[in-house]
Amino acid sequence: MGLPSDFISLDRYCRKRLAGLYDASETGALLNILYGEYLNISRAKRLTEPGIPVETVKAKQILNAVGQLERFVPVQYILGKAWFYGMEFEVNPDVLIPRPETEELVEWVAGDLEKASSPVILDIGTGSGCIAIALKKKLPGSVVMGSDVSEAALSVAAGNVDKHKVEVELVHHNILLGKNIREGLHLDVLVCNPPYVRMSEKSEMKRNVLDYEPHPALFVSDENPLMFYNAVFQWGKSHLRENGVYYFEINQYLVGEIMQLCSEYGFSKCLIRKDIKGNFRMMRVSVN
Ligand code: GLN
Repeated sequence: MGLPSDFISLDRYCRKRLAGLYDASETGALLNILYGEYLNISRAKRLTEPGIPVETVKAKQILNAVGQLERFVPVQYILGKAWFYGMEFEVNPDVLIPRPETEELVEWVAGDLEKASSPVILDIGTGSGCIAIALKKKLPGSVVMGSDVSEAALSVAAGNVDKHKVEVELVHHNILLGKNIREGLHLDVLVCNPPYVRMSEKSEMKRNVLDYEPHPALFVSDENPLMFYNAVFQWGKSHLRENGVYYFEINQYLVGEIMQLCSEYGFSKCLIRKDIKGNFRMMRVSVN
């Protein structure tokens, strides 16, 4: 059989290939993303003139992407980009795909800092740079830095800093080693979306995440799941100003343990918020 040469036959063929792998509405959503990317035919036109011809080269690109979807490659990695906080970010398998719940964390931080004059913010484990860059866009007066242990992630973040033409300093730093970033650095805010999924939770995760996203950015051991929170609090002792504030994304199943850790560090204020799905997902911690 030759390649489908009009939209309706291409669409039917793609749906058939993805049937059984994704449910119908997800298939529809994924294909719409691909059509939007590779075809210059508007959605309205696709619906009203389904017999419209499709060039061979475009059909090939779409079928190649569908082949990757059959192997559960996340659509964001197929296209090399993801949307976060109304902005487009470059992504590849060296970085997590930005999540909608993380937008909610950014919204919280940005809301709290709206009136701050020039807050100094560090995003630990910045990955694609999405949190740091979105904060800098939202709070132009702020000084924003992003750190990561992965050089490969930092290079993706650097691409995104360029793309969005923002001033965000990126540094290579392993929070687990607890070293200084530089002398005299005093931060007002530490933001961190650390790895927090326990190995034992792997069975709950989908193949597109498990087979393609970077495991060091996702997983922690069952024995020490709060390792990164502990390291951030420890490091924060000597780098955060006295009235500094921590913001974290958290594991919904570890709220009790996280609250316990906060009280061991003597933080008197620890606020937990749910994400839009109703899961305990983020936390704001401060001394007073
Ligand atoms: N919320 C992400 C997920 O479920 C995990 C992000 C993280 O570990 N920081 O895939």
